[in-house]
Amino acid sequence: MAGIEEIVARARETRERAYAPYSGFKVGAVLETEDGDLHCGCNVENASLGLTICAERGALVGALAAGRRKFRRLVLVTDGEEAVPPCGACREVLAEFSPDLPIVSVDGRGGLKEWTLDELLPRPFHLNTTRG
Ligand SMILES: [Zn+2]
Repeated sequence: MAGIEEIVARARETRERAYAPYSGFKVGAVLETEDGDLHCGCNVENASLGLTICAERGALVGALAAGRRKFRRLVLVTDGEEAVPPCGACREVLAEFSPDLPIVSVDGRGGLKEWTLDELLPRPFHLNTTRG
């Protein structure tokens, strides 16, 4: 089982592989599964800007592709002056699988903030349909 320092180190390594020529804001994310596997993601920008993929969703997609759907925590790393939470789109996508996911975000100086996803997104979108 990886400790928080090891997970932050993995997020920093992954952040170095981010493709962020437009914003210059590189992000690394590690999503830890309930059994301790680590799935990493980095942001991948696109010239259209709207097609940019966030680190958090990259990590989630990799975890899902590996067959994992239950998560213990998300760790984010940037070089910003202040630790940032996931964007709104990522909050919605993460809430699909872990509505109360613990989130740790680390800034460029090692400062750390923690939230739970349900604090950041208290009312996620739900389909409300009657089928059949
Ligand atoms: Zn995002």
